[in-house]
Amino acid sequence: MDYVTLRLRPDGRSWTPRFAQAINSQKCIGCGRCYRVCGRDVLQLMGVNEDGEHLPIVVGEDDDDDGEYEKKVMTISNPGNCIGCEACSRICPKKCYTHAPLPVEAA
Ligand code: SF4
Ligand code: SF4
Repeated sequence: MDYVTLRLRPDGRSWTPRFAQAINSQKCIGCGRCYRVCGRDVLQLMGVNEDGEHLPIVVGEDDDDDGEYEKKVMTISNPGNCIGCEACSRICPKKCYTHAPLPVEAA
């Protein structure tokens, strides 16, 4: 299968963007590192309360509310904004991310 590939590099090398598909909520520790490197407004940190409800919270804020949540997990809230740079995956200490290229017929 052919995937969308860009030839934008000065040296002529091609690049195949690999878009964020999923974040493993079992592995994620809610550290927010991926959020801080993503400049595309793709991600949303969620707090999970004792009832299993997911509530949006702001990275770096709400630290005083940690006791309200059983855990925090990162989620992909705006997948259409992703440019497939994989910066999020490279910085994630828990290897939570799954990425995939875009098939040509879907471009
Ligand atoms: S691949 Fe890039 S644009 Fe997409 S979520 Fe990760 S850091 Fe953001
Ligand atoms: S960097 Fe990894 S562990 Fe940290 S919030 Fe993002 S997905 Fe979760």
